[in-house]
Amino acid sequence: MNSAGRPLLGGIEAGGTKFVLAVGHSPTEIIARHEIPTRDPATTLEHVCDWIEGQGTINALGIASFGPVELDRSSTLWGHITNTPKPAWTNCDLVGHFAERFGVPIGFDTDVNGAALAEYEHGAGKAAGSLAYITVGTGIGGGLVFHGKAIHGAAHPEMGHIFPRRHADDDQFEGICPHHGDCLEGLASGPAIKARWGASLSELPSDHIAHAIIADYLAQLAHSIVAMTAVEIIVLGGGVMRTHGLLERVNQSATELGAAYFPGGSKHKIVSPGLGHNAGLAGALMLANAVQPDH
Ligand code: ZN
Repeated sequence: MNSAGRPLLGGIEAGGTKFVLAVGHSPTEIIARHEIPTRDPATTLEHVCDWIEGQGTINALGIASFGPVELDRSSTLWGHITNTPKPAWTNCDLVGHFAERFGVPIGFDTDVNGAALAEYEHGAGKAAGSLAYITVGTGIGGGLVFHGKAIHGAAHPEMGHIFPRRHADDDQFEGICPHHGDCLEGLASGPAIKARWGASLSELPSDHIAHAIIADYLAQLAHSIVAMTAVEIIVLGGGVMRTHGLLERVNQSATELGAAYFPGGSKHKIVSPGLGHNAGLAGALMLANAVQPDH
C-alpha cells in the first residue's frame, strides 16, 4: 500500500526483445514506467525485480508474457514459458520467480491476451462486446476477448500459425517459421520481411510489391478471425504495423476478401491500438488488478 492508501500494482510486459515494466494505481494510472532489454533469464528477471522493488511495495503483480506459456492453473507448469524458440527461456518459471521475491498475488496471461483485455476495456474496443488484438512484429500472435474475458481453451490461441493462401507474386519464398515454413508468421512477420526483401517494410518504397503482399496476408488473417469468431473489432499492433499506409491497405484487402459476404460493407472494424504502445502494459496492470486483495 502506498502513502495515499491506495493499492500499488506492478505490471510486466515480457517480450522477446524487451521487458516493459510499470507500477500504477490502476491500469490507466501509470506512476512509473521502465524498459530493459531481454537478456538471459537470470539477469533479466533480477533487473525486473530490482526496479519494481525500488518503486515501493506492490499489492499485486500482473505479467503479460511472450509465449508459448502454460495458462492452466491446475498444471504444475502454470506460469512457465514453455517451448519458446528462445532456448534460454524454455521452461522458465516466470510466475514462480516473482512469487518467491514479492509474495503477492500474480495474474498471468499472454502478451496479446493482455493487450486485448486492455484495448477491450480502455482502448479501441470500449463500445464493443468483442475484440481481437493482433501483434505483427518479431512474431505474429493474437488474443481474443469476448464479453470481458480472454479466450483460453486447451492452450492459448496461436493465430500467427495459420496457413494463408499464397499471394500470386510471392510463390518463391519458403517462409521462416521453424515449425511450418510458410505459415502466416513465416511469411509476414518482421524477420520474414527482412529475409525476403533485405529491409523492413517501412524502409521499402511505397510502390514496392511487398506492401501489397503483406497487406494481403494480414487481411487473410483478419478475414479468418471474423469468419470463425464474428468478432467486432480487430486491433492490429506491433512494429510492422507502424509502416505508413499498411493499416489502410489491410482494410482494403479485407474488404475485397469479404465483399461477397458483406455487400453493404462489413460491420467488423480493423483499427490501430487505441492505447498505442501501452496496450500490453495496461493489460499487465489489469491482470494485477484482477488478483489484488481489495478487488
Ligand atoms: Zn508457424
